[in-house]
Amino acid sequence: MPELPEVETIRRQLAPHVEGRRIEVAEILDARWTRPYHPETVAGGLTGAVIERVTRAGKYLIWELSGERFLLVHLRMTGALLFDPSVEPIHTRTRFELSGGHRLVYVDPRRFGTGHLLAGADARDAYLAERLGAEPFTPEFTADYLRRAARGRIAPIKAFVLDQRRIAGVGNIYADEALFRARIHPLRPAGRLTAVQWARLRDTIEEALSAGIDAKGASIDDFRHVDGARGSFQDRFQIHLRAGEPCIDCGRPVRKIVVAGRGTYVCEHCQPRPQARRRTTLVGRGAAATRRAGP
Ligand SMILES: [Zn+2]
Repeated sequence: MPELPEVETIRRQLAPHVEGRRIEVAEILDARWTRPYHPETVAGGLTGAVIERVTRAGKYLIWELSGERFLLVHLRMTGALLFDPSVEPIHTRTRFELSGGHRLVYVDPRRFGTGHLLAGADARDAYLAERLGAEPFTPEFTADYLRRAARGRIAPIKAFVLDQRRIAGVGNIYADEALFRARIHPLRPAGRLTAVQWARLRDTIEEALSAGIDAKGASIDDFRHVDGARGSFQDRFQIHLRAGEPCIDCGRPVRKIVVAGRGTYVCEHCQPRPQARRRTTLVGRGAAATRRAGP
């Protein structure tokens, strides 16, 4: 699934091609894309609009259109935007004819992606506020924000990092990469990270995302650039998808476990598994007595 670096890569590639162009025809071939809105209503709202700017929030690509309208595109699992493809791709869901004779198509084999057209900046802001927490690389994304958001939570830190309403844009790849770089076990309860660990994790989330953006994203499944090319971050993973391979730091084998329902990669030497909290003193004494009684 495309995460912040993949969507940012698409934004950077798309913006110079489409900014300033008019949408002459919008053809929405799949009603699921705009649900709950009717595709013809959305197509009508897009036709004739000029794409003024392409921005991003979390994993949303935002087309700022003339008339203060906003098209919020989410690629979900397998969505891709292709600019001037040489042949009509299969799984085309939406087709845009742009001024200057250009064409942009949205393809999505699994059809989970969405395109929502909103009128006005307030509607855009409300839509995003409901769905997204702090955005990495902004001043709000601080260790203190993370610590406060996680206070009292016993769910694993990996689940917390994946929660878009806490941290915008991080998915399975970059969560594993950030936790490994921070030397934090993915199962550690989020509410029990120390201030030092939060500071480290804040930094490593941005480091992992930056490395992904520099490599123009990771193509481990359907992710493609707007010209159909692939990203290269999958060749630079430090931990993700490396089960059985030696940890780059200590050489012990990387393990695959399941956390929050997601395949998760961890070095349990570099990222020590959280200890169950010490129980009562009585249990401690019992354990000591057992040790004394041993050979
Ligand atoms: Zn290790």
